[in-house]
Amino acid sequence: MIKIQRSPKPAVLVKNTAEWTRKLLAATTKEEKNKAEGKYRHEKIKDALVNMFHGKCAFCESKIIHIDYGHIEHFKPKSLPAFRALTFEWTNLLLACAVCNGSEHKGTKFPLAANGGPFVNPCDDEPNDHFDFVYDQTAKLASVVGKTPRGTTTEKLIGLNRYDLREHRTKQVQKLLFIKSHAQTDPEAAEILRQTKLDDAEYAAFARSL
Ligand SMILES: [Zn+2]
Repeated sequence: MIKIQRSPKPAVLVKNTAEWTRKLLAATTKEEKNKAEGKYRHEKIKDALVNMFHGKCAFCESKIIHIDYGHIEHFKPKSLPAFRALTFEWTNLLLACAVCNGSEHKGTKFPLAANGGPFVNPCDDEPNDHFDFVYDQTAKLASVVGKTPRGTTTEKLIGLNRYDLREHRTKQVQKLLFIKSHAQTDPEAAEILRQTKLDDAEYAAFARSL
Protein backbone atom coordinates (compact mmCIF):
# COMPACT_ATOMS: atom_id res chain seq x y z
CA MET A 1 0.00 0.00 0.00
CA ILE A 2 1.28 3.46 -0.87
CA LYS A 3 -0.04 6.90 0.02
CA ILE A 4 -2.46 8.19 -2.61
CA GLN A 5 -3.28 11.84 -3.13
CA ARG A 6 -7.03 12.02 -3.72
CA SER A 7 -7.90 13.77 -6.97
CA PRO A 8 -10.67 16.41 -7.17
CA LYS A 9 -14.24 15.15 -7.04
CA PRO A 10 -15.42 14.20 -10.57
CA ALA A 11 -17.91 16.65 -12.09
CA VAL A 12 -20.59 13.95 -12.26
CA LEU A 13 -20.48 13.66 -8.46
CA VAL A 14 -20.33 17.41 -7.89
CA LYS A 15 -23.52 17.61 -9.89
CA ASN A 16 -25.41 14.53 -8.66
CA THR A 17 -24.30 13.38 -5.20
CA ALA A 18 -27.06 15.15 -3.30
CA GLU A 19 -29.85 14.08 -5.66
CA TRP A 20 -28.65 10.49 -6.03
CA THR A 21 -28.31 10.19 -2.25
CA ARG A 22 -31.80 11.61 -1.72
CA LYS A 23 -33.28 9.07 -4.16
CA LEU A 24 -31.36 6.18 -2.59
CA LEU A 25 -32.48 7.04 0.95
CA ALA A 26 -36.06 7.52 -0.24
CA ALA A 27 -36.24 4.14 -2.02
CA THR A 28 -39.03 1.97 -0.63
CA THR A 29 -38.60 -1.20 -2.73
CA LYS A 30 -35.57 -3.34 -3.49
CA GLU A 31 -35.87 -2.45 -7.18
CA GLU A 32 -35.88 1.27 -6.41
CA LYS A 33 -32.91 0.86 -4.08
CA ASN A 34 -30.89 -1.17 -6.63
CA LYS A 35 -31.64 1.32 -9.40
CA ALA A 36 -30.72 4.30 -7.23
CA GLU A 37 -27.62 2.65 -5.81
CA GLY A 38 -26.16 1.58 -9.16
CA LYS A 39 -25.37 5.19 -10.11
CA TYR A 40 -22.04 4.92 -8.33
CA ARG A 41 -20.82 2.73 -11.20
CA HIS A 42 -20.86 5.72 -13.57
CA GLU A 43 -17.94 5.44 -15.99
CA LYS A 44 -16.60 8.91 -15.14
CA ILE A 45 -16.33 7.89 -11.48
CA LYS A 46 -14.58 4.68 -12.44
CA ASP A 47 -12.20 6.53 -14.78
CA ALA A 48 -11.29 8.99 -12.02
CA LEU A 49 -10.55 6.13 -9.60
CA VAL A 50 -8.49 4.21 -12.16
CA ASN A 51 -6.39 7.33 -12.77
CA MET A 52 -6.07 8.14 -9.09
CA PHE A 53 -4.93 4.61 -8.17
CA HIS A 54 -2.85 4.14 -11.34
CA GLY A 55 -4.91 1.07 -12.22
CA LYS A 56 -3.83 -0.68 -9.01
CA CYS A 57 -5.72 -2.04 -6.03
CA ALA A 58 -5.76 0.48 -3.17
CA PHE A 59 -4.91 -2.26 -0.67
CA CYS A 60 -2.63 -4.88 -2.26
CA GLU A 61 -1.10 -2.70 -5.02
CA SER A 62 -1.65 -5.37 -7.67
CA LYS A 63 -2.26 -4.08 -11.19
CA ILE A 64 -5.91 -4.69 -12.10
CA ILE A 65 -6.93 -2.91 -15.22
CA HIS A 66 -5.08 -5.01 -17.83
CA ILE A 67 -7.02 -8.13 -16.75
CA ASP A 68 -10.15 -6.95 -14.94
CA TYR A 69 -12.47 -3.94 -14.62
CA GLY A 70 -11.67 -3.47 -10.94
CA HIS A 71 -14.15 -2.80 -8.17
CA ILE A 72 -15.33 0.58 -6.97
CA GLU A 73 -14.85 -0.09 -3.30
CA HIS A 74 -16.79 1.73 -0.58
CA PHE A 75 -14.32 2.16 2.27
CA LYS A 76 -17.22 2.48 4.68
CA PRO A 77 -19.46 -0.30 3.29
CA LYS A 78 -22.60 1.02 1.60
CA SER A 79 -24.48 -2.10 2.69
CA LEU A 80 -24.25 -1.09 6.35
CA PRO A 81 -27.20 1.18 7.15
CA ALA A 82 -24.95 3.65 8.99
CA PHE A 83 -22.97 4.28 5.80
CA ARG A 84 -25.67 4.09 3.14
CA ALA A 85 -25.62 7.88 2.80
CA LEU A 86 -21.95 7.61 1.77
CA THR A 87 -22.71 5.55 -1.37
CA PHE A 88 -21.85 8.51 -3.63
CA GLU A 89 -19.43 10.28 -1.28
CA TRP A 90 -16.21 10.76 -3.25
CA THR A 91 -13.95 10.48 -0.19
CA ASN A 92 -15.48 7.05 0.53
CA LEU A 93 -14.58 5.56 -2.86
CA LEU A 94 -11.45 3.57 -3.68
CA LEU A 95 -10.39 1.20 -6.47
CA ALA A 96 -9.83 -2.38 -5.30
CA CYS A 97 -9.23 -5.81 -6.79
CA ALA A 98 -11.99 -8.43 -6.63
CA VAL A 99 -10.08 -10.47 -4.04
CA CYS A 100 -9.30 -7.69 -1.53
CA ASN A 101 -12.84 -6.39 -1.93
CA GLY A 102 -14.46 -9.84 -1.88
CA SER A 103 -16.50 -11.27 0.97
CA GLU A 104 -13.63 -13.53 2.07
CA HIS A 105 -11.56 -10.41 2.78
CA LYS A 106 -12.81 -6.82 3.17
CA GLY A 107 -16.37 -7.43 1.98
CA THR A 108 -18.72 -5.58 4.29
CA LYS A 109 -16.33 -5.58 7.25
CA PHE A 110 -15.60 -2.31 8.99
CA PRO A 111 -13.95 -2.93 12.37
CA LEU A 112 -14.10 -0.05 14.82
CA ALA A 113 -11.24 1.08 17.07
CA ALA A 114 -12.26 -1.32 19.85
CA ASN A 115 -11.69 -4.18 17.38
CA GLY A 116 -8.38 -2.94 15.96
CA GLY A 117 -9.92 -0.77 13.22
CA PRO A 118 -10.57 1.14 11.22
CA PHE A 119 -8.74 -0.22 8.19
CA VAL A 120 -5.78 1.80 6.95
CA ASN A 121 -6.98 4.05 4.12
CA PRO A 122 -4.28 4.95 1.56
CA CYS A 123 -5.93 8.32 0.89
CA ASP A 124 -6.32 9.37 4.52
CA ASP A 125 -3.45 7.61 6.28
CA GLU A 126 0.27 7.27 5.69
CA PRO A 127 0.65 3.52 5.06
CA ASN A 128 4.29 3.57 6.26
CA ASP A 129 3.05 4.55 9.72
CA HIS A 130 1.10 1.29 9.89
CA PHE A 131 3.08 -1.27 7.89
CA ASP A 132 6.59 -2.49 7.22
CA PHE A 133 7.20 -3.97 3.77
CA VAL A 134 9.69 -6.74 4.41
CA TYR A 135 11.62 -9.32 2.40
CA ASP A 136 12.66 -12.22 4.61
CA GLN A 137 15.89 -13.64 3.12
CA THR A 138 15.56 -16.93 5.03
CA ALA A 139 11.90 -17.68 4.31
CA LYS A 140 12.20 -15.99 0.91
CA LEU A 141 8.88 -14.20 1.33
CA ALA A 142 7.84 -10.57 0.72
CA SER A 143 5.39 -9.76 3.51
CA VAL A 144 3.33 -6.84 4.73
CA VAL A 145 3.86 -6.57 8.49
CA GLY A 146 1.43 -4.54 10.57
CA LYS A 147 3.17 -2.32 13.12
CA THR A 148 0.05 -0.79 14.67
CA PRO A 149 -3.23 -2.47 15.67
CA ARG A 150 -4.87 -0.88 12.60
CA GLY A 151 -2.06 -2.11 10.35
CA THR A 152 -2.31 -5.63 11.73
CA THR A 153 -6.11 -5.69 11.40
CA THR A 154 -5.86 -4.45 7.81
CA GLU A 155 -3.22 -7.02 6.89
CA LYS A 156 -5.17 -9.90 8.45
CA LEU A 157 -8.74 -9.09 7.34
CA ILE A 158 -7.91 -7.85 3.82
CA GLY A 159 -5.49 -10.74 3.40
CA LEU A 160 -2.41 -8.76 2.38
CA ASN A 161 -0.26 -11.87 2.86
CA ARG A 162 -2.66 -14.36 1.28
CA TYR A 163 -0.86 -17.23 -0.44
CA ASP A 164 -1.26 -16.39 -4.14
CA LEU A 165 -0.67 -12.69 -3.66
CA ARG A 166 2.48 -13.20 -1.61
CA GLU A 167 3.86 -15.78 -4.06
CA HIS A 168 3.47 -13.36 -6.98
CA ARG A 169 4.73 -10.39 -4.99
CA THR A 170 7.76 -12.32 -3.76
CA LYS A 171 8.82 -13.11 -7.34
CA GLN A 172 8.55 -9.42 -8.24
CA VAL A 173 10.56 -8.42 -5.18
CA GLN A 174 13.27 -10.99 -5.94
CA LYS A 175 13.64 -9.52 -9.44
CA LEU A 176 13.81 -6.08 -7.89
CA LEU A 177 16.61 -7.14 -5.55
CA PHE A 178 18.54 -8.62 -8.47
CA ILE A 179 18.17 -5.37 -10.43
CA LYS A 180 19.23 -3.42 -7.37
CA SER A 181 22.43 -5.46 -7.11
CA HIS A 182 23.35 -4.32 -10.65
CA ALA A 183 22.16 -0.72 -10.42
CA GLN A 184 25.45 0.69 -9.12
CA THR A 185 27.32 -0.33 -12.25
CA ASP A 186 24.63 -0.60 -14.96
CA PRO A 187 22.70 2.57 -15.93
CA GLU A 188 19.92 0.48 -17.51
CA ALA A 189 19.42 -1.42 -14.26
CA ALA A 190 19.46 1.89 -12.37
CA GLU A 191 16.68 3.20 -14.63
CA ILE A 192 14.55 0.05 -14.18
CA LEU A 193 15.09 0.31 -10.43
CA ARG A 194 13.92 3.93 -10.48
CA GLN A 195 10.74 2.89 -12.30
CA THR A 196 9.90 0.24 -9.70
CA LYS A 197 9.39 3.01 -7.12
CA LEU A 198 6.96 5.10 -9.16
CA ASP A 199 3.33 5.43 -8.10
CA ASP A 200 2.12 3.34 -11.02
CA ALA A 201 4.49 0.41 -10.36
CA GLU A 202 3.12 -2.78 -8.85
CA TYR A 203 4.22 -3.17 -5.21
CA ALA A 204 5.99 0.22 -5.17
CA ALA A 205 5.79 0.15 -1.36
CA PHE A 206 8.26 -2.75 -1.37
CA ALA A 207 10.56 -1.12 -3.93
CA ARG A 208 10.69 2.08 -1.85
CA SER A 209 11.22 0.21 1.38
CA LEU A 210 13.95 -2.10 0.05
ZN1 LIG B 1 -6.13 -6.11 -3.90
